[in-house]
Amino acid sequence: MNTIKRIDPRRPFIITPAGLKRITLGEEGSADASAAQWSAQGHGTAAAKPRRAVQDPKHVMLVVAHAERSALDDHARQTIAAAALLADGQTLVVLLAFGELKDDVAELGVDKLIELAGFDRRAFAPERELQALQACAAALAPKHVFVPDNATGDGDLGRRYAAAAGASVATHVVEIDGKHVGAYAQAGRAFATRVLPDVILLAQNSVEAKLPFVGAGECLAGVGERLSAELIRPAGDAAQLYRDLGLEEINAAQVALEEADFIVSAGNGVSDIGAFERLAGAFGAAIGASRVAVDNGHFTRDKQVGATGKTVEASVYIAFGISGAVQHLQGIKDCRHVIAVNLDGSAPIAKRANLTVVGDAQATIAALIEQVEAARGQTSSSRNAAKLEGVAA
Ligand SMILES: Cc1cc2nc3c(=O)[nH]c(=O)nc-3n(C[C@H](O)[C@H](O)[C@H](O)COP(=O)(O)OP(=O)(O)OC[C@H]3O[C@@H](n4cnc5c(N)ncnc54)[C@H](O)[C@@H]3O)c2cc1C
Repeated sequence: MNTIKRIDPRRPFIITPAGLKRITLGEEGSADASAAQWSAQGHGTAAAKPRRAVQDPKHVMLVVAHAERSALDDHARQTIAAAALLADGQTLVVLLAFGELKDDVAELGVDKLIELAGFDRRAFAPERELQALQACAAALAPKHVFVPDNATGDGDLGRRYAAAAGASVATHVVEIDGKHVGAYAQAGRAFATRVLPDVILLAQNSVEAKLPFVGAGECLAGVGERLSAELIRPAGDAAQLYRDLGLEEINAAQVALEEADFIVSAGNGVSDIGAFERLAGAFGAAIGASRVAVDNGHFTRDKQVGATGKTVEASVYIAFGISGAVQHLQGIKDCRHVIAVNLDGSAPIAKRANLTVVGDAQATIAALIEQVEAARGQTSSSRNAAKLEGVAA
């Protein structure tokens, strides 16, 4: 007899009017009510979204995430959305952000923001981050703590916090509602569920980040500054435990395309390959190419992006002179911001792009090189001036 347990591929999940996947809203959540009310009012996507109603707040859902270059990534946004969707009408969604944050947090569903601008993802400071989170949790007594389960700091911090607090925790959570969480177990051969724990480490793409409502988006004045002042002094005992060698900068051209965060990509519309490569160098971006550009011999095959090339996940992907054939689009489906430069404003890439520059690739590349070099020149001359001031002082 075959005793191997199988995952039911038709395991139920609910898609709400907000387009939510794999998350079933419990009675606890007020979000579905807001969403239903929103769609019942016939609002389109362009209409102003209602604010999630919170009256006489008694509870807190605390979301913890690191910002990078003043922004949260999709995974962090999804984690906030999970908290906001489960928060009831008496629960505030509070975001504890490590690092400076310039995102519109109300749009992400956050009611209160605690911004620890002095922390930097590039610095390794697990003890001080843990202390900050513990201080926040002590002050707010959150019902649940939500953390993106990533390998870039948040996942580690969430585990440290749960262990130190003796809290119940679920990791790699792919399914969540007001009462339970679910995660794959036994190398994906089984699916495990449990009641909603204190700390929830959410896997990527388990929740749709787009919400049909906004949060209050207010800063918890003073808290971030106080915590930063207390915790960003030179580390004490913890500093003896390890030496932080910092991040080593490497040439963007050496980064595997699949791992690159910023890619400039050339298609058949790029004729001056030398200028294109200079631009990549000036930007510090990795180089990609369409199949035609590779077939023409301008780039090696490992630079090809698309169905028969690499699938990339860059935050920024600039496509110069690329038409946007379906095979190419397949390779950039996970990119966050796509910018197209094309003579033809109706090329298929324009439908995928967040911004399309209708113009000549060569002229745009030349103008960009000029701008970047001018900006670099300004930065280095102001740095030199600061050094000279320091010497004079
Ligand atoms: C089985 C199969 C697999 C494939 N796999 C891939 C793949 O992995 N990756 C891939 O990329 N393709 C792939 N292709 C090929 C794909 O169908 C397209 O042919 C290819 O992507 C087109 O490349 P392109 O956009 O650079 O060139 P073109 O289709 O020639 O488009 C050039 C674009 O540049 C614009 N342009 C022209 N001159 C200028 C200028 N001076 N300034 C600005 N814009 C300009 C044009 O308006 C046009 O939009 C595959 C095809 C098949 C059949």
